[in-house]
Amino acid sequence: MLSWEQTAALAAMRCERAWVEIDLAALAHNVQQIKSLLAPQTQLMTVVKADAYGHGACTVARTALQAGASWLGVATIPEGIELRQAGIKAPILILGATNTAEQIRAIAQWELQPTLCTPQQALIYSETLTSLNQTLPVHIKIDTGMSRLGTNWQEAADFVQLVYHCPNLEIASIYSHLATADSPDPTIMKEQQRRFEEAKKAIRLTARYAIATRLTGTKINNLGRQFPRLHLANTAATLTSRNLHYDMVRVGLATYGLYPANHLKQVVELKPVMQVKAIVTQVKTIAAGTGVSYGYQFIADREMRLAVVGIGYADGIPRNLSNKMKVLIRGQQVPQVGAITMDQIMIDVSAIPDLQVGEVVTVLGKDGDLQIGADDWAEILGTISWEILCSFKHRLPRVAIGESKRQKVEGRR
Ligand SMILES: *Cc1c(COP(=O)(O)O)cnc(C)c1O
Repeated sequence: MLSWEQTAALAAMRCERAWVEIDLAALAHNVQQIKSLLAPQTQLMTVVKADAYGHGACTVARTALQAGASWLGVATIPEGIELRQAGIKAPILILGATNTAEQIRAIAQWELQPTLCTPQQALIYSETLTSLNQTLPVHIKIDTGMSRLGTNWQEAADFVQLVYHCPNLEIASIYSHLATADSPDPTIMKEQQRRFEEAKKAIRLTARYAIATRLTGTKINNLGRQFPRLHLANTAATLTSRNLHYDMVRVGLATYGLYPANHLKQVVELKPVMQVKAIVTQVKTIAAGTGVSYGYQFIADREMRLAVVGIGYADGIPRNLSNKMKVLIRGQQVPQVGAITMDQIMIDVSAIPDLQVGEVVTVLGKDGDLQIGADDWAEILGTISWEILCSFKHRLPRVAIGESKRQKVEGRR
């Protein structure tokens, strides 16, 4: 066991090399911007799966709930438990699949809410919950064209009816997920919405049938009293049209200040929440013709001032950015040179001859008027900004800023 002083010293040391800053004021601003698009009765679910896209799930969840979100979305049971252990009370939907009796017991114990997609799953849920003598709100997922989790839209009404008749399951919502909401061409999204509507109509007929069976004394649940909440929209659909919002929207990316597509940039003003920073650890002059880093992928064409920075691919900088990325120092942009190594990168600082060891380098984020975004890296690498945000490892401590004073985000246990 470390003493309190040793723990504090270790925490400070972890921030002496490289770290991720999480701007909570920007996060709250983004949540409020998203809320401003919604009708008053439409709920906002903030999606905090994958440790809140790398931002730190508990801190993000607390800030988002304060700023107007009322639901949280996670991918896995442990992600949900982490939020509950931090004392977060908001309803938590598990977006991923959960199938075993052991998983179901954990979900019930931690008051999480599962997604149901298949009859086998509904039956094992019902059986397990009956043995626990516990009732659970469940969310029915319909596949309207994503071909991922969900019951086929044409079978949705039958599935809802089955779940309705399973003891100990309460249908809390019915939802689907869009495959192409970020495309400027809405054709496929419209077809998915049409299928969602078709399923909704068929389910309404089922609901009437359910009321009839209730009158004959079979069962009462919220499908009989009130039609379950419907939801379909991710960030892109939320920014596209209110017509896609239904009773709730599930927003991840925009919470973190990024746009899913260029054509959606006009809708709201979002601020990036994450910045990645590192420290200059050595500065040197190299002669013309000197090779830099593994494989000599860079050779100085002139005498050059070179700085070493304490961050590398083991921290989450994709190695494929070698010789392609830039960083910011003192409000200026300078190029990274040579292969990115596991723990360190080299940068050409000839433009800043008096640069000192210990100065802060902005690897991702804003410095003065310049900004490097996750979407800039995504474009160079041919990927999406979601993947960039999720790539930063937990060797980098998350440091929350933008609150009343600097506050360190607890690392993940
Ligand atoms: C991840 C996820 C979201 C959030 O998507 P964004 O594009 O980041 O807003 C919404 N719904 C489901 C089912 C998801 O898996």
